[in-house]
Amino acid sequence: MGTRRFVVVSGGGSGIGRAIARAFADRGDHVTVLGRRPEPIAAVAKEIGGAALALDLTDPHAVERARAELPEHVDVLVNNAGQRMPLPTEPGLAAIADHWRRMYDHIVLPAVLLTEAPLPRLARPGGRIVSIGSTAGLRGNNAYGAAKAAIHTWNHTLATRVGPDGITANVVIPGYIADTEFAFDMVQDAAEHARRAETTLVKRVGRPEDVAAAVVFVASPEAGYICGEFVNVSGGHVLGR
Ligand code: NDP
Repeated sequence: MGTRRFVVVSGGGSGIGRAIARAFADRGDHVTVLGRRPEPIAAVAKEIGGAALALDLTDPHAVERARAELPEHVDVLVNNAGQRMPLPTEPGLAAIADHWRRMYDHIVLPAVLLTEAPLPRLARPGGRIVSIGSTAGLRGNNAYGAAKAAIHTWNHTLATRVGPDGITANVVIPGYIADTEFAFDMVQDAAEHARRAETTLVKRVGRPEDVAAAVVFVASPEAGYICGEFVNVSGGHVLGR
């Protein structure tokens, strides 16, 4: 167990974010979990002896207000929160425009706004920013994939900005990860679930803990020479046939 660090995990009340929060707590870190619904984040904070902060990360005013409630010193920031929006069911360009705007709001803004808020408090040197991308941002998947690709490229600029201060910024890119609210519909569809396992090289679906292990490594003090990079956690799905 290393030095106790202060970690902020967005979307820490469920799925991948909850596994990330647990993994940092297991190594002795203090973790603040963020999300919109108070109940899931309160439950995780109680379980891991951390703190919970309820807010909508798409709202710049809410993030501005929350600045005072974030830890005074932040060692690790994990931008995990994101929500996939259903494809438009209404015909017409207005519905398409609305869908694309909402997807950018719910995938890109939570990471961008939350990073700007505590940035001055990030450890210099030694701070770590890890954002969760998606293989959809590499292989394409409608507006969701485009929004995740925006996270991937935004990280280049971020890494260029913070790197000289000894802070690293990286993207961990999951493939299909079951046991999350995000993947609930796909898990219910047994054929789709099996198809997704088959597209990986390791012939299984991913677990939140698979992603958490990569995040903890990229955020570790030992990973200080990894900056502006991508770490795929997809069981080889990107190469899968
Ligand atoms: P979940 O839906 O279980 O987790 C998403 C979490 O983010 C929820 O706890 C949600 O809580 C929170 N959240 C969403 N929007 C906001 C917001 N505007 N403000 C604050 N909190 C928010 O799914 P996953 O664990 O799968 O998703 C985590 C990340 O992983 C997402 O970025 C997703 O795009 C990405 N991902 C997931 C994959 C998968 O197959 N599961 C594959 C690739 C990437 P609440 O609703 O209470 O706000």
